[in-house]
Amino acid sequence: MNISKEELKSKVVAEIEKSKERIINFSKDIAENAETGYREVKTSNKIKEIFDSINLKYTDGHAITGIKSEPIIGKSDGPTIAVIGELDGLIVKDHPLADPKTNAVHACGHNCQLGSMLGAGIGLLNSKANEYLNGNVVLFAVPAEETIENEFRINLIDDGKLGFMSGKQELIRIGSFDDIDSAMLSHATTNATDKDLSIGGTSLGHVVKYVEFHGRASHAAGAPYAGVNALKAANIAMMAMDLQRESFKDEDKVRVHGILTEGGTATNSIPSIVKLEWRIRGRTIDIVNEVNKKIDRSLKAGAMAMGANVRIRSIAGNLPMLQNKDINNIYFVNAANIVGNNNVVIHPDDTSGGSTDMGDLSQIMPVIHPRSGGAIGAGHGNDYFIDDYYKSVINPAKAMATTIIDLLWHEENKLKQIISEHVPVYTKKEYIDLQKSRMGNEFHEYMKS
Ligand SMILES: [Zn+2]
Ligand SMILES: [Zn+2]
Repeated sequence: MNISKEELKSKVVAEIEKSKERIINFSKDIAENAETGYREVKTSNKIKEIFDSINLKYTDGHAITGIKSEPIIGKSDGPTIAVIGELDGLIVKDHPLADPKTNAVHACGHNCQLGSMLGAGIGLLNSKANEYLNGNVVLFAVPAEETIENEFRINLIDDGKLGFMSGKQELIRIGSFDDIDSAMLSHATTNATDKDLSIGGTSLGHVVKYVEFHGRASHAAGAPYAGVNALKAANIAMMAMDLQRESFKDEDKVRVHGILTEGGTATNSIPSIVKLEWRIRGRTIDIVNEVNKKIDRSLKAGAMAMGANVRIRSIAGNLPMLQNKDINNIYFVNAANIVGNNNVVIHPDDTSGGSTDMGDLSQIMPVIHPRSGGAIGAGHGNDYFIDDYYKSVINPAKAMATTIIDLLWHEENKLKQIISEHVPVYTKKEYIDLQKSRMGNEFHEYMKS
């Protein structure tokens, strides 16, 4: 049967619409079982169950919890594009929906990504769209996008269970993206000016810090002079890091922020172990590296002042995101078809704020990272909720699925052409070498025995 590209798109959209309740309920179920990065066991099992139910084979255990579908094979050979959904939630202790034991909650809307990934898959499968496509589609549920729980992840690295910290970084390293040529992921947004669907923008690069100050315990009242106070060393370091701010240039978009994860064990004992988890972000990796030197000096200054020791672990963080303009333009047209021209926004390249490991992937292959409305409150905040699942999940599922039809339509082969013209910043090997070079583990001793 011969049908036109636009007819096929209508069929795909109709199939997604038909399954909307199932797709939305799946997204809600994921939200009710939130887990953080590399601990997404229940979530991972739910992906397997839903893949089984749509007869989609998969492989599991990609970077611990990742699930990758077998490709939905096109009618002839061509590039493979992945629709990605991130498995992980966040920790927001006072969020009303937070898991009472772990405080995990989907306060970044990643449950909606898994829903829109599923929706795009259902649309393509149920319409048998692949019979008209030159190329393949993979659904890929990936772990650990949020850079949190640094100590836990460093332990995974030290135990040899991980090489890199973020899910996509690790998936690149272990070869799970080797048979994928391009990728897309739709993220929920709470920003009302983003309207229903938006494209474009970039993100910051960063380096992740895990820091331990080592002092000496002693009776805090009886013999404080016999101890070395690791908390005071950390205090000086935190102040020194803050005092660096006047040296940051506005245009470099530097962000330095962190938390104290262990501050002592008993008020009547001089704290001997104090732990910090920190993050340094900037517009480029060179900027991040420069600021990182100032942060390392500040950490050492705290330890030196108090005569403590300090271990500084630096972990390669995300790279800035470069979205593929050609695919963004195709997505824009499809998004406008679904929600209307007035409800789609294009962001300039200088928009930035957070970071994502889609940035890492974008440095080695063409990717897009569109956003969908329907969320309210502050991202990562205790008032973040999905207010309109149709907007957050169904609209982007339709926009991604129809974009894939444009990219792989047999008479045009657009994705093949985009890939042939795309110049990646790094090869996979160069990327891995760069990230390895950004890993550090220093121990500075100022404590007298
Ligand atoms: Zn987030
Ligand atoms: Zn997110």
